[in-house]
Amino acid sequence: NASKKQKSSGPNYEIGLPDAVDGKVVTRFPPEPSGYLHIGHAKAALLNQYFAKKYHGKLIMRFDDTNPSKEKSEYQESIVEDVALLGIKPDVLTYTSDYLDTIYQYCIDVIKAGHAYADDTPVDQMRQERTDGVPSKHRDRPVEESLAIFEEMNKGTETGLKNCIRAKISVDSPNKALRDPVIYRCNLLPHHRTGDKYKAYPTYDFACPIVDSLEGVTHALRTTEYRDRNALYQWMLKTMNLRKVHVWEFSRMNFVRTLLSKRKLTELVNAGVVWGWDDPRFPTVRGVRRRGMTIEALQQYIVSQGPSKNILTLDWTSFWATNKKVIDPVAPRYVAVASDKVVKATIVNGPAAPYVEKHPKHKKNAALGDKEITYSNTILFDQADAQSFKKDEEITLMDWGNAYVRDIVYDADNKTVVSLKLELHLEGDFKKTEKKVTWLADVPSLPTVDLVDFDYLITKDKLDENDNYKDFLTPQTEFHTITKGAADMKDLKKGDIVQIERKGYFIVDSAFDGEKAVLFNIPDGKTVNRYG
Ligand code: ATP
Ligand code: MG
Ligand code: MG
Repeated sequence: NASKKQKSSGPNYEIGLPDAVDGKVVTRFPPEPSGYLHIGHAKAALLNQYFAKKYHGKLIMRFDDTNPSKEKSEYQESIVEDVALLGIKPDVLTYTSDYLDTIYQYCIDVIKAGHAYADDTPVDQMRQERTDGVPSKHRDRPVEESLAIFEEMNKGTETGLKNCIRAKISVDSPNKALRDPVIYRCNLLPHHRTGDKYKAYPTYDFACPIVDSLEGVTHALRTTEYRDRNALYQWMLKTMNLRKVHVWEFSRMNFVRTLLSKRKLTELVNAGVVWGWDDPRFPTVRGVRRRGMTIEALQQYIVSQGPSKNILTLDWTSFWATNKKVIDPVAPRYVAVASDKVVKATIVNGPAAPYVEKHPKHKKNAALGDKEITYSNTILFDQADAQSFKKDEEITLMDWGNAYVRDIVYDADNKTVVSLKLELHLEGDFKKTEKKVTWLADVPSLPTVDLVDFDYLITKDKLDENDNYKDFLTPQTEFHTITKGAADMKDLKKGDIVQIERKGYFIVDSAFDGEKAVLFNIPDGKTVNRYG
């Protein structure tokens, strides 16, 4: 039975690459080191790896690094680390910047063949001319002139800096990508790998087909928004007599209320809207990990998306639901109660002196070991729970047993509960009570635990083309609930994932430092949680 087999043997998208020969397929993942890896890149990387493996071929990871204005070693290093973390193992790691001499030579050849020219039309005017389908006044200048200017560009002289090289393809093609695109431009900023060796750099449209072809890429996977540029890619291959490369399209991954663009994420980092690239509100690999996404779930989720060509705006629900399935069986459980208006209850027939019992950290997973629960005749409740109690109601104290609420003392507002009196009724049936409540023995030095929840950075589900995302930034995205946690929460380490009973899943962002521990809420795809 085919569908069963498919499930057990991992993903099988039933979509093949055209002209794929087993053992001969070469794919590539070409990140630009202009930011940290986001989950859209993770999709591209995993997809390239999937096809390379499916055909027993090769995966190249290539830094597309020909724009010193945007690129940095820091980004390059983080991308290498994150790719490894995702379990992606490229067969080779290459750099477009290693091909700059070769690409330079190709540019000379293209100019000599009359397929490119130097142009110093100012940027705005050039944009207008391309929109209007009007030729640049330099379009038909002699080859010698263009070559001489290209040399000036490569020396970074004043004349060079004013110019760029444009491919001579079309003035008025209905496909605007073909209207004499820029293929080389000057940039005097030092490059993170080549320093100031080069003063002029190829654009992506020029460099990519050359390097794809030279590196033996058989199938270049590109997201559908590059569709208009496919003709340009093919023009480059043909004009430079380069080996054929198949361009195979897949859809970009988008998420509601989320920016997936390195440029915009960079702006948010620089503007201080977030704490950094690993901000738990960020869709970067580091951000979602810091928020508590496991690598296992991230891989599962992205692979489950498959190589669809429909551009979808995904909901975060199933992303986090995938993670919940991974963490729920292994997250130890703890109790914490909100410090704000915490309610002290006296148990009239409670233990004379506090005592400690060991209980499993997870009722269904003994392998996680035990935690200590302290029993005492004064215990603490969340204010919200206390407010729900009625006089003489029988409730269940989790991990203890039933008790009657014998007395409720309210504040002057007649709403806020100040204190409670309970009477244990341990022979009572917990199946018959309506409320199973969490509580903590009121013993000295319970750790302060700061539970942090986050909102989306963007207020609108799907930004339109013309929307400026800055007009849609959520004013407040960070919410703190200060709680008192069980004593052994002092031992939690950074990165530990726990469940706090009735409050949700959390990841430890900073361990208890003598003052407090900080835990981030991990969405579970269901509850929207602010811990009451
Ligand atoms: P960004 O605007 O975020 O910088 P990019 O496409 O310019 O995206 P690159 O570093 O050039 O960033 O991308 C590397 C690869 O990841 C490319 O193959 C690109 O198509 C792919 N990619 C980028 N964003 C997404 C996304 N949201 N979904 C799927 N693939 C993506
Ligand atoms: Mg790019
Ligand atoms: Mg980009």
